Amino acid sequence: MTTPSTLYGISGSQGIVVARVVVLNRQADQSICYQLAPELVETEVDRFQDALNEIEQELIELRNQFEEDLSDTETLTIIDSHILMVKDKMIRAGTIDLIRQKRINAEWALARVLEHIKKKFDHIRDPYIRDRFADVKYVVDRIFAHLGDRNRNFSANFSEPVIVVSDDFSPEDTLRMQSEKILGFLTDKGGITSHTAIVARSLGLPAVVGLKNVTSCCRTGDTVILDGYSGRVYLAPTRDQQKQYLKYDRQHRAFSEELAWQIHLASETVDGLRVRLSANIEIVDEVQTVFQYGAQGIGLFRTEFEFLKDDHPPSEDTLTTVYQDLLAMFSPEPVTIRTLDMGGDKAASYINGHQPIFERNPALGLRSIRLSLRDPTLLTLQLRALLRASLHGRLRILLPMISSLSELQRVREHLNKSMEELYRKGIPFNPKVEIGIMIEVPSAVILADTLAAEVDFFSIGTNDLIQYSLAIDRSNEYVAQMYEPLHPAVLRMIRQTVVAGHNQGIEVALCGEMAGDVVTAMVLLGLGLDELSMRPSAIPHVKKMLRSSTASQLSDLGSQILELRDAGEIRNLLHNYLAKYYPDEFGEA
Ligand code: PEP
Ligand code: MG
Repeated sequence: MTTPSTLYGISGSQGIVVARVVVLNRQADQSICYQLAPELVETEVDRFQDALNEIEQELIELRNQFEEDLSDTETLTIIDSHILMVKDKMIRAGTIDLIRQKRINAEWALARVLEHIKKKFDHIRDPYIRDRFADVKYVVDRIFAHLGDRNRNFSANFSEPVIVVSDDFSPEDTLRMQSEKILGFLTDKGGITSHTAIVARSLGLPAVVGLKNVTSCCRTGDTVILDGYSGRVYLAPTRDQQKQYLKYDRQHRAFSEELAWQIHLASETVDGLRVRLSANIEIVDEVQTVFQYGAQGIGLFRTEFEFLKDDHPPSEDTLTTVYQDLLAMFSPEPVTIRTLDMGGDKAASYINGHQPIFERNPALGLRSIRLSLRDPTLLTLQLRALLRASLHGRLRILLPMISSLSELQRVREHLNKSMEELYRKGIPFNPKVEIGIMIEVPSAVILADTLAAEVDFFSIGTNDLIQYSLAIDRSNEYVAQMYEPLHPAVLRMIRQTVVAGHNQGIEVALCGEMAGDVVTAMVLLGLGLDELSMRPSAIPHVKKMLRSSTASQLSDLGSQILELRDAGEIRNLLHNYLAKYYPDEFGEA
């Protein structure tokens, strides 16, 4: 099979990169070879030694476990021989020497050592001993597997900036890869709203996801063009193509900078309708960009990444400090902090104890508020920290994935208990702190009128609402093309939620990815949303559109769209609308 010259995926995060790739696999791949910067050689040696030590420990534990049960000693002898191999000089010292001499990564050095050992075994006459190579191979494969895990913890020990390629990255892998040495990501798996893509966007790193076979089409060291605007990857590009793409990149950046001057202008229509444009953040370090792009507060702080940084949860004091700093920084603008939304495609190892190891359908499983309510330890820890921080600014607590009134009531009980506890201890807090829920499950839309009477605000999470209403797994590349924000069912659900919220006098925000796309944002404004929360860099673009529209023009658009029966019809209408009102600016729907 010949390798195609262009791979088509899904734009995970916009931007263009022309660079070499490093291919990482979950099972460390022997073909991975990269040159190390001189100061990182010893870190690589440590990575290798740590992997060996962990395997040795595992084998010793295995031996201890079986020692009492096993009547025959043969299995124990095999385990002992494997322990000896882990300590073997040829494997350990041979690999370390190669890492140091050639300044190359551990996988590649180990693969060379294995080749060398294989040659030696091939010359052995005794078939029994020759067959023992299988044991060496077993131990070496185990080392590769451990290096694979550790590979994901690396902090970019490359000698030059690269694009990282993998079957998939967990959101925490993506976070750990923050480094000037990493320019972008390419993955086989994933869709536009998979959390990995969201984290890549928030880090401002271009990414193409859902490429299906990029790991087998690229080899470490190949130069590629990553086009995060169109979701394409060009393999083996010519010099002219590279130059052309670098030029596009400069043009895109210039356009964004041109928009930045508007940050101090009000986010309102020509006739004065104000809409709050706020920011989604995943990590506290992003606040600089939130100011830079002129956001009016934080519309969604996805706090789970604070819990994924370490192999234990943060302390209540640490969380309180993080939250109160954030509130103080943005006061008097609101800061919306969401309680843990773990599970699905995000999991912390220390939470696994409460989560089934394998869920057949994690998106429909023990995720988010369900996980929090099953074992409320982390939920109450977070609620106490939020309450303690609540007097430092305008806090809005947001509860994810609420699907029924009783779920909301159960969280309220925990909140009340936390308040009583703080009250007893004499710790001050705001007893009237605003509580809102994410509307991201269809049952919450249907019950929106009931739920609106119980909360202070709604925030519609379209990433999940689309997933759950259209039955499209948001991180499955095979159905990604069917993920349709402009589906009339989705738009009608959004409108129904807005009406239910407004009837109860509460504000309705939307914080899914569709808020950050100019064309879909225009539709959302037409549907009457009070706030759109998006990645900070999208704010100037949406603000420009808002400031060149009138309220009646947008609401007419919304009414017309609600009459249509299919996403195709809606796109046609938008195409004509854009051509009429914004002939030069926003391109096609
Ligand atoms: C959503 O579902 O739209 C949302 C904003 O939450 P998340 O993407 O974190 O699930
Ligand atoms: Mg969600």
